Amino acid sequence: MSDCLFCKIIAGDIPSSKVYEDEVCYAFYDIAPQAPTHFLVVPKAHIQSVSQVTAENSAVVAHIFEIIAKLAQELGFAEAGYRVVSNVGQAGQQSVPHLHFHVLAGRDMTWPPG
Ligand code: AMP
Repeated sequence: MSDCLFCKIIAGDIPSSKVYEDEVCYAFYDIAPQAPTHFLVVPKAHIQSVSQVTAENSAVVAHIFEIIAKLAQELGFAEAGYRVVSNVGQAGQQSVPHLHFHVLAGRDMTWPPG
C-alpha cells in the first residue's frame, strides 16, 4: 500500500535496522524500544491487523511465528523468555495499520500490560 509506513520500510524507501528478511516477512528494530531487545516482525503483504487474518492469509502468520521462535534462539533470549504482542485497532493502541508483532526481550516483563 503506497501510503503505509511499514510497506515503505519493507520496500526500502524508509530506512530501518534489519533483523531478518525472507520472501514472506521482514523484521526490524523498533525505533522507540520498550525493552533492551525490541523488534517488529511484519508480513510483506499488506494486512491491516490481526482482525484481517483469514483462512486465505493465516499461513503468513504461522510463518512469522516460526521465524520469531528461530530468531529468539539465534539472538539468545529464547531460554530466558520474552513477549510477543500485536496491538489491534484504536482501543488496542495500534498506531501503524500494517500487521506487526512486537518481540520484546532482555528484561522481566510486567503483567497486566498498561
Ligand atoms: P503499534 O503502536 O503497536 O502499532 O506499533 C508500532 C511501532 O512501530 C511502535 O512501537 C513504533 O515505535 C514503531 N515505529 C514507528 N515508526 C518506525 C520506524 N520508522 N522504524 C521502526 N519502528 C517504527
